[in-house]
Amino acid sequence: MADILYINGRYTTTDEKVIGVEDRGFQFGDGVYEVIKFLDRHLLFVDGHYRRLMSGLEEIEIPNPWDADSFSEMCRRLLERTAFTDGILYIQVTRGEAERALFYPEDLEPTAIAYTRRFPFPDATKKERGVGVITMPDIRWKHCNVKSINLLANAIARKRAQRAGAYEVLFVDSEMDVREGASSSFFAVRESRLVTHPTGPAILPGIVRHEVISLALAETIRVDERPVHEYELYRLDEAFITSTTQGVMPVTHVDGRPLGSGRRGEITRLLQERFDALERSSR
Ligand code: PMP
Repeated sequence: MADILYINGRYTTTDEKVIGVEDRGFQFGDGVYEVIKFLDRHLLFVDGHYRRLMSGLEEIEIPNPWDADSFSEMCRRLLERTAFTDGILYIQVTRGEAERALFYPEDLEPTAIAYTRRFPFPDATKKERGVGVITMPDIRWKHCNVKSINLLANAIARKRAQRAGAYEVLFVDSEMDVREGASSSFFAVRESRLVTHPTGPAILPGIVRHEVISLALAETIRVDERPVHEYELYRLDEAFITSTTQGVMPVTHVDGRPLGSGRRGEITRLLQERFDALERSSR
């Protein structure tokens, strides 16, 4: 079914073919994106997503197609035209369209698109059951703080996970430190503390990661921002991944072996509950 689509200032549907063959997003993966969840037509944590989009654009020197007001207006108009109340808003900005060459013209107009879509957010059963993950060397580029549309390494990794009967991949660096998932942040729980990789070029600064850290601190759960070593994975009490679409999702197995009890842990359950409540109250 077609979705409502915004492209460079006008509204259409995803039925219309709007992207040129020489768009640099298509040719080079030269762009950034965001995924924002909405409930009751209300965007969740939109300021954080907007800020991350802006900093990604700045980092790769793509002109910003929206100021804060025109961004809000675009989102409002898209949601107004959307037939359903809950889903995701996908936003992508590429450097634009130009004759294929690595050098790009300085005055290129970015291609800005956004559309809303239904999304099968995990239900209570899935959130209790959790997921299995596999570990894999991190073969991504060195600027993972930028939410690049070039997701080749992530796509290959997720396919490998799927073939192994797992849901997600944990990317591990050359020091054997666990960084994050292919599309999620990673948290370990050990001796009632949270451990998660510090922000920086090695990970995406996850919006849910940020909220979960605040929720944990409010519960006086200590949070250590340091990498978890791969060997430590089997000594953890609990672990979970976080993302906009999955919220707080327990990790019960790593590479086919149980992690902790092999079931959702108590701290994971508590933070899941607090995060779901925060989402409900932010809508
Ligand atoms: N890390 C990576 C690599 C991701 O792709 C995502 C999801 N976009 C996340 C972490 C989680 O980020 P967020 O909480 O902002 O969805």
